[in-house]
Amino acid sequence: MKLDIVEALKTLLSSPQNIVIIPHKNPDGDAIGAALALNFYLKSTGHNTIVITPNDYPQFLKWMPGTNEVVNFEKENTTAVRSIEEATVIFTVDFNELGRIGHMVEVVEESPATFVMVDHHQSPADYATIMYSDVSMSSTCEMIFHMIVALGGLNLITNEMADCMYAGIVTDTGSFKYSSTTGKTHRVAATLIDKGAHSAEIHKNIFDTNTASRLHLLGCALKNMVILPEFSTAYITLSQEELDTHEFKKGDTEGFVNYGLTLDGIRFAVIFIENKEEGIIKISFRSEGSFSVNEFARKYFDGGGHTNAAGGKSNRSMEDTVHYFRTLLEDHKTELLA
Ligand code: 5GP
Ligand code: MN
Repeated sequence: MKLDIVEALKTLLSSPQNIVIIPHKNPDGDAIGAALALNFYLKSTGHNTIVITPNDYPQFLKWMPGTNEVVNFEKENTTAVRSIEEATVIFTVDFNELGRIGHMVEVVEESPATFVMVDHHQSPADYATIMYSDVSMSSTCEMIFHMIVALGGLNLITNEMADCMYAGIVTDTGSFKYSSTTGKTHRVAATLIDKGAHSAEIHKNIFDTNTASRLHLLGCALKNMVILPEFSTAYITLSQEELDTHEFKKGDTEGFVNYGLTLDGIRFAVIFIENKEEGIIKISFRSEGSFSVNEFARKYFDGGGHTNAAGGKSNRSMEDTVHYFRTLLEDHKTELLA
């Protein structure tokens, strides 16, 4: 972590602040873990803090310490708006453009608070006064760990904070198997276990807990998979009707997109998921090697992310979205086969 950022943070936090911590919309384990760990740390150092999520998050993350205090902007709007208006400092974690917080942006961008970004995605926007942005990091939780240590808080890390940060690292590294995992990531994880993180339970909670309906939905997704060896690509579609039939709950489709990449010769995997309520098709992109799904998502699907994992959306119908996507494959054939 750069020294000037550490110094700016130390100065900012040298007196008690009203702090709002915001993860991105549809928060995953990294976003929620980072927000909760930071919340515990800032509270223990004398600040008045609150975590506000733009919307709800999956049940499989609700075991995390501190989740019962999280305020949902959609459901507890009055409390959320008041806290944002009274904030002197706003931490945004695990995203880097305010468009990622949905309608909450309308209240947040009016705030005179000092904004601090903690994030590991590419191409950060410049809304934050203090920007701790590092694309080499496995996860925002790993960054929160480095930040706490740089602020002199290593001894303040409790087992609850360790659980939260470990959960985020495990989420974003796919249990330490993605290429974003470094020796440093493992050293941080080791320290978190020493601090009391319940590693086996966390892996189970995040990756190995299922409902029958989710497994059947996975079966449906895999049946729908279209494999295009001529583009090294595999994609899955899930319509709203299919989701409804399988009693879809938030988080149920987490990880489905990765199956495409397990096929020999497939280097680009995509899942298109219809969301009738929002009138969009939500898309997840994954790649292996040099094909940048961040650039692809940014250019064609109003999204972004990392080189090998990104997301985006489409306002067209499923049929039109897939048709458009397939024309793009033609345009990118050389890169996909490189
Ligand atoms: P997922 O496909 O698991 O939802 O997201 C993969 C990565 O892309 C995550 O790091 C996530 O934060 C990012 N991402 C997902 N959807 C969007 C989006 O609509 N816009 C941007 N900028 N990033 C996204
Ligand atoms: Mn992340």
